[in-house]
Amino acid sequence: MKIIGPFKQVVTLADLPLRGSLKDEQLEIIENAGILIESCKIVKVDNFETLRKEFPNVTLEETEGEQIAMPAFTDCHTHICFAGNRANDFSMRNAGKTYLEIAESGGGIWSSVKHTREATEEELHKTLCTRIDDLVRQGITTIEIKSGYGLKLDCELKMLRAINHAKEKTPAKLIPTCLAAHMKPKDFNGDSEEYLNYVLEYVLPVVQEEHLAERVDIFIEKSAFQPEESKAFLERAKAMGFEITVHADQFTPGSSRVAVECGAKSADHLEATSDEDIDYLAKSNTVAVALPGASIGLGDSFAPARKILDAGGILAIATDWNPGSAPMGKLVTQASILATFQKLSTAEVLAGITFRSAYALGFEDRGVLSEGKRADMVCYKTDNYQNVLYRQGALEPCAVYIKGEKY
Ligand SMILES: [Zn+2]
Repeated sequence: MKIIGPFKQVVTLADLPLRGSLKDEQLEIIENAGILIESCKIVKVDNFETLRKEFPNVTLEETEGEQIAMPAFTDCHTHICFAGNRANDFSMRNAGKTYLEIAESGGGIWSSVKHTREATEEELHKTLCTRIDDLVRQGITTIEIKSGYGLKLDCELKMLRAINHAKEKTPAKLIPTCLAAHMKPKDFNGDSEEYLNYVLEYVLPVVQEEHLAERVDIFIEKSAFQPEESKAFLERAKAMGFEITVHADQFTPGSSRVAVECGAKSADHLEATSDEDIDYLAKSNTVAVALPGASIGLGDSFAPARKILDAGGILAIATDWNPGSAPMGKLVTQASILATFQKLSTAEVLAGITFRSAYALGFEDRGVLSEGKRADMVCYKTDNYQNVLYRQGALEPCAVYIKGEKY
């Protein structure tokens, strides 16, 4: 057992609903608090002096200066296992070049596929570990990571092995997802339905056999896979025992509906979701994941987070960190910007990057600082928790704890 403290404030996020809008008055903020931890879990958050009196013989891990603490974050949607660099895509896009012109000049997603195919597993693993370290230092202790730049059996496996290998190198919780259905690769001999069958028959069985991922994702979009074939794919993946998630409604509407119909754990992107589909999604148990980093990277509109919350949906926010459309990889910055454009309360943003995003990955044991929850916390040198979002990411954590241990 140990007590960490004192903290000027601890924002516990306790007793908040999983879905719907939140007001800041609903936040539990314990002033002059201490946090009691035993075997990786929170035992109690209470007034520091009260805790010290109640548990006088417990080790004290004293904080330096004025600090606040809150639950550590979950990034439930990333593509951080990749090789190569797409800075030229960014320049070309901003200079008005089309998707096709960028692809013809050697950019676009195919460039990430080429570089990732050429990289060794060790090279992928190394850059991946650097990006994981970057995320953990931001206070993110649960990270989802997708494959999807291999697009053929050996390279999809190479990516997933690199991700699984990284589990040994970090105390953060990593959740691999197989996104072999990112797009039909240029060099595949057949149509998109045949490619999806190839993924089902040749890729997913090995992924399952080698325990490389328990989740399957698909990109449903005009330029990738169509709703009908995707639905059949998702149903078969689900029947194999995979949890499913969908890249939905990024540029054209219609696919979040497929995600809900298939019982997907989450529908991610949603920049183009229609009002009717927002309602349908919000009434389901599928988590709506907003990815402001992609909107910022592409200069597109943001997901209708306000409407989703008002309709009673479960809203999570993630970085979508990827080399093409969302290269920034800063969760708090992106979530704060989403808040200004979508008029989200601080409580809604914090819920969206903690217990609600953890729920999108199937976890209910984290993202809240209350009894029995995982002792993953992020601390900032400030006297007011509001400064975290107010500074839009410029205020960086002074400490990150994973299972009660300082990172
Ligand atoms: Zn994505």
